[in-house]
Amino acid sequence: MRRDLPWRRTRDPYRIWVSEVMLQQTQVATATPYYLRFIGRFPSLDHLANARESDVLAAWAGLGYYRRARHLHAAVREVVREHAGRVPEKAEAFADLPGVGRYTTGAVLSIAFGVPLPVLDGNVARVLARWCAKPWVVRNPRDARALWEVATALVPEREPGDWNQALMELGATVCTPRAPRCAECPVRASCRAFALGKPEAFPPPAVRRASVALRRAVAIVERRGRVLMARRAGALLDGLWEPPGVDVAAGAKPRTVLAAELRRLGLTARLEPTDRIVRHTITHRRISVEVWRAALTKPLAPRATLRYVDPDSPDAALTALARKLAARSGRRGPG
Ligand code: SF4
Repeated sequence: MRRDLPWRRTRDPYRIWVSEVMLQQTQVATATPYYLRFIGRFPSLDHLANARESDVLAAWAGLGYYRRARHLHAAVREVVREHAGRVPEKAEAFADLPGVGRYTTGAVLSIAFGVPLPVLDGNVARVLARWCAKPWVVRNPRDARALWEVATALVPEREPGDWNQALMELGATVCTPRAPRCAECPVRASCRAFALGKPEAFPPPAVRRASVALRRAVAIVERRGRVLMARRAGALLDGLWEPPGVDVAAGAKPRTVLAAELRRLGLTARLEPTDRIVRHTITHRRISVEVWRAALTKPLAPRATLRYVDPDSPDAALTALARKLAARSGRRGPG
């Protein structure tokens, strides 16, 4: 049942930490190549601590939830500064690092150092809700407290890391959201949901977040094979680069709002429409992106938030939309 995953072959707390951060909100199959590339690029805590943020974000590009990468980077720098470069084994000290929550603390310290702390992720929550036959939903704070209590009561003093990984693995491979394989389950004899004959009734189905349709207009400015990118701000894409653009409210004219956005960025440009629409989805947002071609009528004044980027460079910390737009911009070669 135990899958052979690259981060299972190590006790290096740094590598385990990287894998646990990547696996939050990302499936194993998606995270694995990113993990291998990231560790290849930053093989030790010191390598990551000494890296530039733009390089860290570039190595993370495509995984989404960039705040995780930024926090990880800040946290390893703090480990170097405050803990002589050694990942702290004490839960209070580790949990004090930027972006480190209860799950990451339990996972890293139990697996790397054998500290008997529990973990609770979506898979573990499902196993425990079924095992107890309780309608607990991990997103509900009161249910989460109950789930943490059960997880804490169960975690053993000996080999807590193996226990936590087995529980996560059970949820990922046997006690799956749909059609759990109860016949193969090692805890079947004590599972209350199984005894009731309705394992899939726990936890109750989540209410799906409705998807939202959005419009965006972007300006493609090209120079010698490079594309002008603006640094994005905001929770989701903060610090990544994308062609300058703006969301277009219902009833607004894309040319007008895009021209206003370019002026706000200090750009003076002539906009020409293209007939290209790029479809892009981020979390629950379906974005229809109108692509405009822009010619600068005044040279670009130096700014920290604007730069020409070779979109084919793997080192560029671009958003997924930026890569899509660049792939379709029909760039000309150097000239
Ligand atoms: Fe999940 Fe079935 Fe195992 Fe219960 S017996 S923990 S429902 S796989």
